[in-house]
Amino acid sequence: MERVYDMIIIGGGPGGYTAALYAARAGLKTAVVEKLSAGGQMALTSQIDNYPGFPEGIDGFTLGEQMRSGAERFGAETLLAEVTAVSLSGIRKRVDTDEGTLYGKTVVLATGADPRRLGLLKEQELSGRGVNYCAACDGMFYKGKTVAVVGGGNSAVADALQLSRVASRVILIHRRDSLRATKIYHEALNKAENIEILWNSAVVELLHEQKLTGVMVENLQTGHVEPLTCDGLFISIGRKPASELVAGQLTLDEGGYVVADDSTRTNIAGVYAVGDVRTKALRQIVTAVADGAAAVHYAEEYLAEIG
Ligand code: NAP
Repeated sequence: MERVYDMIIIGGGPGGYTAALYAARAGLKTAVVEKLSAGGQMALTSQIDNYPGFPEGIDGFTLGEQMRSGAERFGAETLLAEVTAVSLSGIRKRVDTDEGTLYGKTVVLATGADPRRLGLLKEQELSGRGVNYCAACDGMFYKGKTVAVVGGGNSAVADALQLSRVASRVILIHRRDSLRATKIYHEALNKAENIEILWNSAVVELLHEQKLTGVMVENLQTGHVEPLTCDGLFISIGRKPASELVAGQLTLDEGGYVVADDSTRTNIAGVYAVGDVRTKALRQIVTAVADGAAAVHYAEEYLAEIG
């Protein structure tokens, strides 16, 4: 039997499950297709303090599960499956998964974006134990401590500045001798007394016991390698949006993000992009959940139009 939905949401992070909650409450037949578990990137964060309503904070896995059960309480279905292909044009949109094919009148893409990794030995195991990818999320754990930041773009410099207000010492490690970050950041960087910059340098090894204890830094001009003791490492070398599935159908920007404004509407009617996969200035849980609500608002308008 054909499985037909009013809304198919691809990705079960905060944006996806907020869309599911709003859609199900609006009486739409709704499915979330998620390959792993609820929460997306958020589920990998042990302590979330910047999502309001949790005075003691909450771990991301629990928050993801709660978002899932909140949506399911109103009838949203979760299908644990990997989406293998989509066909988004036309009134009837097709979503192929390794558990069969679904058809939807609307599709919400909520597949997120992965931080780029350095690819160092033990990087994954030490993630959350000294190795971090988000200063806004995890910076507070390094109050009064020493942290290193890798990268030379806007994210790395913004992270270094944010961390300099919390940590006692920040070392920015960049592989070239000039920053990619916009000029406006340079002055702030020069003014921050507790930020040092290691130019032409790369982190080549993670030093650790149970947690990270430091990094080995190579000077790329001389080849000289020396240890740097630090409590935390923030890897800010860009993100990779999960948009391969829709490339060639949805308009992407040069970074691979799906082009959509705050309405979350894409270039195809009835298709919406929410959360980290969308072009936006601030990628946070609160902005993802806002997107989820907006997508359903515009989807309801669209569904009323097509009748
Ligand atoms: P980005 O601009 O692509 O910069 C990535 C940085 O990481 C570059 O400096 C790059 O070095 C370095 N890098 C890449 N791979 C590396 C590797 N394997 N090892 C060491 N270093 C590596 O990424 P982003 O800073 O995340 O910014 C993404 C987009 O968001 C940009 O368009 C940015 O302008 C925007 N953004 C804007 C703001 C703001 O305006 N407030 C804040 C954050 C982000 P090279 O320079 O040598 O290539």
